[in-house]
Amino acid sequence: MARPTPAAKSSLQLASATFSQTRQASKRRGNEAFFWCDWCDGYEHRDQSFGILGSIVDAVGSVIESETLFHDIIAFVNGTYTDENVAILDKNRPGWATQLQGYGVVINNASIKSIDRIQDGAVVHNVTTDTEYDKFQVNLANGSSIERDAFLTNFPSIQHSTLGSSLGVKVYSEKMIVDPGSMRTAALGVFAVGDANSDNATNVPHAMYSGKKAAVYVHVEIEKEHAATFLQKREVENIHERMGNDLEDLWKRLSSD
Ligand SMILES: Cc1cc2nc3c(=O)[nH]c(=O)nc-3n(C[C@H](O)[C@H](O)[C@H](O)COP(=O)(O)OP(=O)(O)OC[C@H]3O[C@@H](n4cnc5c(N)ncnc54)[C@H](O)[C@@H]3O)c2cc1C
Repeated sequence: MARPTPAAKSSLQLASATFSQTRQASKRRGNEAFFWCDWCDGYEHRDQSFGILGSIVDAVGSVIESETLFHDIIAFVNGTYTDENVAILDKNRPGWATQLQGYGVVINNASIKSIDRIQDGAVVHNVTTDTEYDKFQVNLANGSSIERDAFLTNFPSIQHSTLGSSLGVKVYSEKMIVDPGSMRTAALGVFAVGDANSDNATNVPHAMYSGKKAAVYVHVEIEKEHAATFLQKREVENIHERMGNDLEDLWKRLSSD
């Protein structure tokens, strides 16, 4: 596999910004053929021409995830096909290049200038088969362009809030580390559920399941604190019994004189 010339970093950033805006738009208006999860949004585009956007390091795993739905795949790796990344892949996924060849995946390392929508699947679709016919033109910095119907995106994400970390929650890979038995984090009284926690599942049933589990533990924890107050009161009463009321009696006597 010939390795094309690495692209400028600025192009990668430009492309990432463009895609991130597209993803935000996707979240607002429905999937629109840019998605980060085949299982969530791939079905409507099954067997269409497919692009994988982002680092080559992530592209290999994405191909393996996508192969059951897509067979005509181009990985637009935008200048990330570098010696450094090849070394990472050789270490983490030995045989990766042969596997990609086996799947017939094309790696395109050119810088992406822009991506234009040329057909909207929200308009052109088949409700009987649940198929959406989006179409995009990927414009490359070298002047060429390639058409694709749908894309999987592999862009890094970061936590919006630093609240967890500032409370003492331990974070791994932008996710809050939990004890999966209770959804407790390292910070006392802080629980993390759904997409934000570290068990790395991002789906609605998991959000509900982990949220419900945490709710049970929160409920019990609060009640345990309440129950403990009965013991504390008892201790105070015991102390009074042992101390007696001598001083109070003396005060009352002096005050009545
Ligand atoms: C395009 C797309 C398609 C998907 N399709 C599927 C699917 O088909 N099936 C499936 O099971 N899952 C799907 N998912 C995943 C699913 O939506 C998530 O796993 C799930 O919503 C996670 O729930 P959550 O409660 O953890 O987080 P969210 O649903 O993201 O809820 C977090 C909430 O917190 C709010 N919030 C964030 N910051 C703050 C703040 N500082 N103060 C107050 N509020 C704040 C947000 O506005 C949001 O309402 C999809 C996700 C996306 C993006």
